[in-house]
Amino acid sequence: MSAQSSSTTRRSTTAAETNISSDNTPHPSVKHCADKVNARYSHGRPEPELVPSRYALKVGAIDVMVVSDGVLSLPGAMLGHNVDPAVRAAWLNDMFLPPDVLEWALNVVMVRSGDRTILIDAGMGMEFPDLPRSGKLAQRLEDAGIDLASVTDVVLTHLHMDHCGGLLVDGVRERLRPDLRVHLAAAEAKFWEAPDFSRVSMPPGFPDALRRTAKNFLKEYQSQLRPFENEYEVAPGVLVTRTGGHTPGHSVVRLASGGDRLTFAGDAVFQVGFEHPDWYNGFEHDPEEAARVRVRLLRELAANRESLVATHLSFPSVCHVAVDGDVFRWVPGPWEY
Ligand SMILES: [Zn+2]
Repeated sequence: MSAQSSSTTRRSTTAAETNISSDNTPHPSVKHCADKVNARYSHGRPEPELVPSRYALKVGAIDVMVVSDGVLSLPGAMLGHNVDPAVRAAWLNDMFLPPDVLEWALNVVMVRSGDRTILIDAGMGMEFPDLPRSGKLAQRLEDAGIDLASVTDVVLTHLHMDHCGGLLVDGVRERLRPDLRVHLAAAEAKFWEAPDFSRVSMPPGFPDALRRTAKNFLKEYQSQLRPFENEYEVAPGVLVTRTGGHTPGHSVVRLASGGDRLTFAGDAVFQVGFEHPDWYNGFEHDPEEAARVRVRLLRELAANRESLVATHLSFPSVCHVAVDGDVFRWVPGPWEY
């Protein structure tokens, strides 16, 4: 008993010591951030949407479509909570971004290979009313002529609600086929039994919403889960590989066909991560490991010269990675239509 409590004390001291942050700015609420931006979008929105928010490409014989679930408005401090606020503000200014609100893209990918139709991540869903510009996936798939009943497999990079929430929207589960297979790292399902939020830096309300959504998801889809340990080939040339870092079961999807390659990196790479791969994103549960994963992956993508798509890179996000001294450079892909 006493040994256990002393080890608990030691663990929390270590966490506090290593979690040195030069930024003690409290995050404003998501509603505060959203209200600053959303007014611009609350009128004049044509229906059907003026911008289709989908982009199709080929990777060898594999069909790929990037679909935007929308945009999240989050506190700017989230993009690097281990960084001096003045340094962060200077970077945002250099990137022509507002100083306080981060407008985050939310990309989902549909893949067709062989006889499988694979949905990679599923967007935010309707759980969070303060993020009204997200949760568009179901509508945008329908607009693209993609029937949810045609999806044979879902791959989830991790169980944060902006990646699995779309599967919990009313009516979605009923439209998916009963033999749907949901691929998720076993370590991810295990993590959410007792998730550790001691190293994250999120706006108020997020940890509870994330816990609740992951738990609901595991309950709702339990019978369809196909957990894998380290990697699994979902279809010809479609390999899901666990990286850990962002969450213990965080995974990326590697596509390879006919000499072409594309990686969907989920939350291993954010826009700031090219220039500052060591900045800790507020959603990373193990920020040091997340930074190591990011550097390893970016180096590999640069060496392979393969394409990259990531959840929160500006839509359609298709790009290449170049090495630039000690860091990296983001090279947007050409518009091909
Ligand atoms: Zn995310």
